[in-house]
Amino acid sequence: MRVVSGIQPTGNLHLGNYLGAIRQWVALQDSMAAGDDCLFFLADLHAVTVAIDPAELARNTIKMAAALVASGIDPDRSTLFNQARVPAHAELQWLLAGTARMGWLNRMTQWKDKAGKNREGASVGLFTYPVLQAADVLAYRATHVPVGDDQKQHLELARDIATKFNADFDIDLFTLPEPFISPAAPRIMSLRDGTAKMSKSDPSDASRINLVDGDDAIAQKLRKAKSDAGELPDSAGGLADRPEARNLVTIYAALANEPVATVLARHAGQGFGTFKPALADLAIATLGPIRARLTRLLDDRGAVATVLEKGAAKARATAAPTLLAAQRAMGLQV
Ligand code: ATP
Ligand code: MG
Repeated sequence: MRVVSGIQPTGNLHLGNYLGAIRQWVALQDSMAAGDDCLFFLADLHAVTVAIDPAELARNTIKMAAALVASGIDPDRSTLFNQARVPAHAELQWLLAGTARMGWLNRMTQWKDKAGKNREGASVGLFTYPVLQAADVLAYRATHVPVGDDQKQHLELARDIATKFNADFDIDLFTLPEPFISPAAPRIMSLRDGTAKMSKSDPSDASRINLVDGDDAIAQKLRKAKSDAGELPDSAGGLADRPEARNLVTIYAALANEPVATVLARHAGQGFGTFKPALADLAIATLGPIRARLTRLLDDRGAVATVLEKGAAKARATAAPTLLAAQRAMGLQV
């Protein structure tokens, strides 16, 4: 089993990233048997498909790496690195660009969403983004790729690219990666709008809880979070048409590691005036230790950079044989 997953180093890691993705990465890492391994990377090459501030990108890469370590990614057990320091990603991407079809990429919903009406003005990188993603996982012959719902289509594309490459060059090189969607991974919604997901790129900071937020900020954001005037129901069915209420209960359940039913059994009948402070206490208790580790790590950014450099060296070695085999298959090694 080889697990590979990445996250863009844009903005701050938030509660949705943590509960929906990073905590599952940590669980996978912790459940690895001998011979299995996990590679986690900061997708800085993906980040440059839109306009970026270079100094901020470099800063965010360190911050995001520190946030992953603070959340439980152990660089001694997992390979943690930034994509740009492992040239195999970009090299393999070009080789796979000969295999991927325009029609396949044109169907990608993320491309349609992100390019919007201005396709002519979008970067070429934004269009070929899924080919780089395919290279990210195929370079390591990943077997399992933890992905959110929104990335399932890109992983399917990676499988199509792998299948066509193997067939075109008559070689059994690329492993078909399986999506790993943890049943425990909740989808956390914005605190300001229960129908939009909590996101790094939401302009409103009040919409999300960042892992760097202090206790007061967490309590205040949850106090001001959109809710409704109703009481908590005694079963999940009672949350059906109440997206904000459902979101706050989902967050509580995820933080407490309890089923929603258990949370509702305990809090049924309470209004949000009572439930929100309980949720804030729980969030502060859970996120406090992570923030403390994060703050400590950020006191020595050079040490974080060293961790990434070590991870990149390991990742380069892991990817090298696959890249070489792909070059050979294509007649690029004479
Ligand atoms: P952006 O707004 O820049 O797209 P994001 O907050 O969506 O940022 P990503 O870097 O796209 O974060 O995603 C990182 C990981 O976190 C992915 O696995 C994604 O599925 C997961 N994730 C992002 N937002 C949420 C959320 N609100 N709830 C659960 N999981 C989430
Ligand atoms: Mg996203």
